[in-house]
Amino acid sequence: MEAFRKIYERSPRFLRSLYVNAYGLNNVSRLRKWERLLSEIEYTERLEREGQIALVESRLKDVIRDAVERVPFYSRFSALVRDLDDVSAFDVLKEFPLIDKETIIHDPEAFVAKDPGDFVVSMTSGTTGTPLRVRMDRGTFLLTDALWWRRTAWAGYEKGDWIARLVGDPVIPLRIKDPKRPWMISRTDRRIYLSTFHLSAETAVRIGGLLNRRKPEFMMGYPSSLEILCNYLDEAGFRMEWSPKSVLFSSEPMYDHQERVVRKVIGAQIRGLYGSGERMVSAAQCGSGSYHLSLVDGYVEGQFGIMENVRPAAVTTLTNSVMPLIRYQLGDVIETLPEFGCECGRTLPVMSPVITKDEDWIITPSGRMISPSAVVWAFIHQEIDGITNGQVVQSDRGSVTVYLNTTEDNFIRYKDVLRESMEKVFFGELDVDIVRTDRVDVSRAGKSRFIVNELRQRK
Ligand SMILES: [Zn+2]
Repeated sequence: MEAFRKIYERSPRFLRSLYVNAYGLNNVSRLRKWERLLSEIEYTERLEREGQIALVESRLKDVIRDAVERVPFYSRFSALVRDLDDVSAFDVLKEFPLIDKETIIHDPEAFVAKDPGDFVVSMTSGTTGTPLRVRMDRGTFLLTDALWWRRTAWAGYEKGDWIARLVGDPVIPLRIKDPKRPWMISRTDRRIYLSTFHLSAETAVRIGGLLNRRKPEFMMGYPSSLEILCNYLDEAGFRMEWSPKSVLFSSEPMYDHQERVVRKVIGAQIRGLYGSGERMVSAAQCGSGSYHLSLVDGYVEGQFGIMENVRPAAVTTLTNSVMPLIRYQLGDVIETLPEFGCECGRTLPVMSPVITKDEDWIITPSGRMISPSAVVWAFIHQEIDGITNGQVVQSDRGSVTVYLNTTEDNFIRYKDVLRESMEKVFFGELDVDIVRTDRVDVSRAGKSRFIVNELRQRK
């Protein structure tokens, strides 16, 4: 993957366009698989509560049994599974310890099943700055991709629709500082890849022009990137002559001030998706505005009102046989609403939108605004392991400091590659200092944020 990225970045535009279109062909075949999977589980969207509980309970029992047998960390719980057939899975689940990222980073191998077989790795960080590699079987990977896609399907996707994306796709090499066309177009799967990394007053207007010409049916993006784009367009007095079926967002929560400017500039209904890189839980927003949990990927304690809603949320995988995490705390608070009946008719359990702290962004001397998810991308894009916490702090116009909570060895191993990757995302406009620390609440501004911009806060 890394080797291909290098080839891509060195290639001229027409070759890059070819690669993007070839990748699109692959997407077309993935989409077919997702649609097949989604039609197989469509019945679960309207299943009555008892049926949902029975489904989840039976899968929980399988996961628990398998984990105790094959996963070193869980082998000491063998006494719990002896009478598993005769007792409630939820009662047994309670006996397992809560674990979190730090538990796993401490000894990742203890969570991997013996003879895992073929697996894929999903890198996760969220906006917490704690990278974690979660291994999973291909079935889990495909299913969770399909569940993320379901939100687009619910929003009225039809075959042939175009989707513009303003997320972390590195389609324009960062060596090109001011691209005339800050996008790539894939005709094979009808995607417009807009470069989140290149947003500026000039590129925003060009992107606006492209959207007016091509009128994609969907606009998808990180809330922070959509906000930056729409703010630039608004300030330029740009007139949008297009409105998509829906604006789709994910990766970050969308705040009121962001929603306001997106509605003002683009219009259209806005639909969110909650998911995590661990791929154990996801929720899609329906037309009535509710976030419906997916039911089949993971069990969130509290979703049925049977177990207590733990904070931060505790989730158990229902599918991953390679690294089956039990009672894993993602770090997000998920407010479950087991009694809520949604007007859309779906009976899937509902949660409140996840509220995390409003992240800052980084501002370069030339005025570029770099969204938190773009910085996270630079951060986890490296295959870094063993970092418990990270924080990026901008305290003056010309530099940022990256604080890493990790061992001396890891620090030495990753500091240069991380500096290089960060400098690239900031277009070489900012000096990047990497500092090792044993805590990340080094800044006065707030300890749990990934990005702290002290320049913005002083205003
Ligand atoms: Zn609904």
